[in-house]
Amino acid sequence: MDAITDPRAPQRIRHETRMRLLEIIGVTNITPTMRRITLKGDMTGFAAPGHADHIKAFFFPQGVEPKLAPIGRQGTEFADGERPQMRDYTPRQYDLDAGTLDLDFVLHGDGPASSWAAQASIGQKLVIGGPRGSLIVPAAFDWYLLVGDETAIPALARRIAELPAAARVLAVIEVDNPAERQSFPGTADVSLTHVYRNGAPAGTTSLILDRIRTMRFPPGTAYAFVAGEASMSKAVRTHLTETRGFDPEYVKAAGYWLLGTADAKEPH
Ligand SMILES: Cc1cc2nc3c(=O)[nH]c(=O)nc-3n(C[C@H](O)[C@H](O)[C@H](O)COP(=O)(O)OP(=O)(O)OC[C@H]3O[C@@H](n4cnc5c(N)ncnc54)[C@H](O)[C@@H]3O)c2cc1C
Repeated sequence: MDAITDPRAPQRIRHETRMRLLEIIGVTNITPTMRRITLKGDMTGFAAPGHADHIKAFFFPQGVEPKLAPIGRQGTEFADGERPQMRDYTPRQYDLDAGTLDLDFVLHGDGPASSWAAQASIGQKLVIGGPRGSLIVPAAFDWYLLVGDETAIPALARRIAELPAAARVLAVIEVDNPAERQSFPGTADVSLTHVYRNGAPAGTTSLILDRIRTMRFPPGTAYAFVAGEASMSKAVRTHLTETRGFDPEYVKAAGYWLLGTADAKEPH
């Protein structure tokens, strides 16, 4: 079925690619290892209507002041020695009138994005680009499965907040320990399960898959959104489509990071 005949078909929207130079106006520790950075600047035209949209955040070499650069055929054109590293982050919430954007960073200890967030302070700048596109999943399913580790919490929280009161949601979230739990305001009927690594390094356990294997699912057609460490995401997708009868069209399983590899993610 295509989008015209299938009211459940996810819709893709393209946005004009635009870079912005924003300033930090707030740094809040939501949990011991999740830090919210509130940014402010010219947010005119910013759009991120999909719960799993992402922006690119640019992290410059030490001593290089964050700045904008023209976008050419090969992407952004920074001078040699000034090229930033780019990482993907979910627009957790934004307010166009106020010109603000919240990004929630997992402080996992290694890498330019995590290190930047760990030292962030008010007045510092961050360059972002995008989102380039959005995926809108209609609220037309019998129920929804939401699965992820900490990196997926911003997207999962957005989804829970936007689903209508009639929506039934099963969510499985992996964090290190109960202090890392977040609350998820919304009106949907959510049954939320946390699994805890209890000190095991992120990406090294099969806690999520093990829990999903034992879960009884409601009847009807579901949409599954799975995000987090790439091997976990892939294993859950395989289980859902090969063992639990999920339609592959209705499973979005994204690798948000890959254990042991910097700047690694699957195409999304
Ligand atoms: C669409 C999308 C949306 C995302 N949204 C968010 C978001 O809102 N918040 C968020 O925190 N992350 C989010 N991520 C994940 C984030 O982009 C990656 O975790 C990224 O690798 C972090 O960059 P880094 O510079 O800190 O580490 P990198 O330089 O990429 O990696 C350095 C080392 O750290 C490891 N590593 C990377 N991430 C983690 C982690 N979370 N836990 C443990 N080890 C890790 C790598 O395996 C590597 O060994 C998103 C990813 C995608 C694709």
